[in-house]
Amino acid sequence: MTDLSYPEFNAGEVWLVGAGPGDPRLLTLFAVHAIRSGDVVVHDDLIDRRILDFAAPDATIVSAGKRGGKPSPHQSDINGRLIELAREGRKVVRLKGGDPFVFGRGGEEAQALAAAGISFRIIPGLTSGLTAAALNGIPATTRLTNHAVILATGHRALDEAAERDWAAMARTGQPIIFYMAMSNLERIASVMIAAGLAADTPVTIIASATYESERALDTTLASAVTDARDNGIGAPAIIIIGGNAALRPVLLPHLLRSAP
Ligand code: SAH
Repeated sequence: MTDLSYPEFNAGEVWLVGAGPGDPRLLTLFAVHAIRSGDVVVHDDLIDRRILDFAAPDATIVSAGKRGGKPSPHQSDINGRLIELAREGRKVVRLKGGDPFVFGRGGEEAQALAAAGISFRIIPGLTSGLTAAALNGIPATTRLTNHAVILATGHRALDEAAERDWAAMARTGQPIIFYMAMSNLERIASVMIAAGLAADTPVTIIASATYESERALDTTLASAVTDARDNGIGAPAIIIIGGNAALRPVLLPHLLRSAP
């Protein structure tokens, strides 16, 4: 195998590492290298525990879980902790689900580090939205179906600004991949239908993608909330609205899925 070289992990640096959606096999080689080389790993809740096994045996593992519903540390506390650890001269791995710069507040952490004068590195990861879609036979784009794909957060206050944005997204006619949208799904669906999307627009919901507990549900905009409830599909989940969800039934019969 090619002998890859990696940059030196210097004391006092923070490496923001994308852990992918779950399955450790979806880590990048750079991410594995980083996790092995750090002497403290500050990780999100949505991380497959097997990924932490890559850490050095004497590394300190710190959970900085932020998860809807549960008491979790404030973002400013996490930023402060990262800065403190770096100033102590540790090699800090900040391990984040998916890609650190896609809805993971990695951007805020990077800004806090920059403001504190701390050197950091970004190691991208596979983002859960595109990865869950791909593994379930939903191409993000095909030349015949769409020329754009929207990655959106559903974790918004239910206000007019959010509704205007959802309506605008619906009007593009391009597929929308929602993160953190389960609790607002009813509102999102009704706004999108009001904005002109057909009630039978295909929707696929993929919960716990790449975990053994993964569940995928094919439904429609009008039935999504009821179907999700009836089938016990909950967060963390990716919701794909429109476009290539229609290709899934065509691809699925021959799509090989990697066994756990
Ligand atoms: N930075 C992450 C996203 C963080 S926001 C990324 O790039 O993937 C957290 C949201 O990501 C969850 O609410 C859920 O919508 C989604 N998510 C993360 N992991 C997931 C998984 N394994 N299966 C389904 N959705 C997931």
